[in-house]
Amino acid sequence: MTDLTAPRFHDEDAATAWIEASRWPDGVNCPHCGSFAVHRMGGKTQTGMFLCNDCREKFSCRSGTLMERSHVPLHKWLLAIHLLASSKKGMSAHQLMRNLGIGSYRTAWFLCHRIREAMGDDAPVSTGGLGGAGKIVEIDEAYVGGKDSNRAHGKAAPKKAVVSLIEREGRVASFHVPNVTAKTIRPIIMTHVSRASALMTDESNLYTKLGREFASHQSVDHSRDEYAYYDKLTDRVVSINVSENYYSILKRGIMGVYHSVSEAHLHRYLKEFDFRYNNRSRLGVEDDERAAKALKGVEGKRLTYDQPRQSATY
Ligand SMILES: [Zn+2]
Repeated sequence: MTDLTAPRFHDEDAATAWIEASRWPDGVNCPHCGSFAVHRMGGKTQTGMFLCNDCREKFSCRSGTLMERSHVPLHKWLLAIHLLASSKKGMSAHQLMRNLGIGSYRTAWFLCHRIREAMGDDAPVSTGGLGGAGKIVEIDEAYVGGKDSNRAHGKAAPKKAVVSLIEREGRVASFHVPNVTAKTIRPIIMTHVSRASALMTDESNLYTKLGREFASHQSVDHSRDEYAYYDKLTDRVVSINVSENYYSILKRGIMGVYHSVSEAHLHRYLKEFDFRYNNRSRLGVEDDERAAKALKGVEGKRLTYDQPRQSATY
């Protein structure tokens, strides 16, 4: 259990020390040239600043991270990261604005998107893909969002398609696709799932051809009320229940907390939900460690104001 009254969540000096320790566990070094010959600058206006003796550049723990252009105090960054990393269904920018006393919705909204970006490192593609010999990968699709919050004015927004690849007892990778066809999902699956895996899907013929390229492919026929069965031959339970559980959290988060999301930002919300799932307590990752991982994820990235407005791929 994390103590939310800990100094780093309230005191700027404590927060700075915390972030410096996270960023430079082996000693502070210059983000411009890598030199360890640096010194802390004196004077009140230079708090948190270092000067590099080699390249003479100034820097702080914000330099070269998602926090660089942000005016939000570091202790609020730490609290926001902690809250987003530990709330199962996420936390809306409005809620964060109120809880953290952030001045504007726009600032809180952008803070949330930066944190989602920090969580995005975790995509399984960077760790060699999902599945493998003897492993089961469930693939399923879902439609999220689309709730009309103001029915008097206009039609309900269309739901957006999401495809998730989940290694049983393992990790997930979710993707937004404009529409679910064999053509849109094939490259995603081929890129992220090891061909030595056993695939499990629903009865949809989307997967028939593709399934032949994997070690095995079994499906459950939801249209016949079949949700799981034990296969003697392989000693496996054939189902896509893990993906269905994942989607139930995703849908409750997107509808209940975020009240639907726009198509342009959906991939960022997916990063957030995937991150929490991939660092869940069942895998031995607790709140503090999950937050620490998200904090490491701020390094080496930038997000400017116009970036979240563009649509992008995962
Ligand atoms: Zn330097």
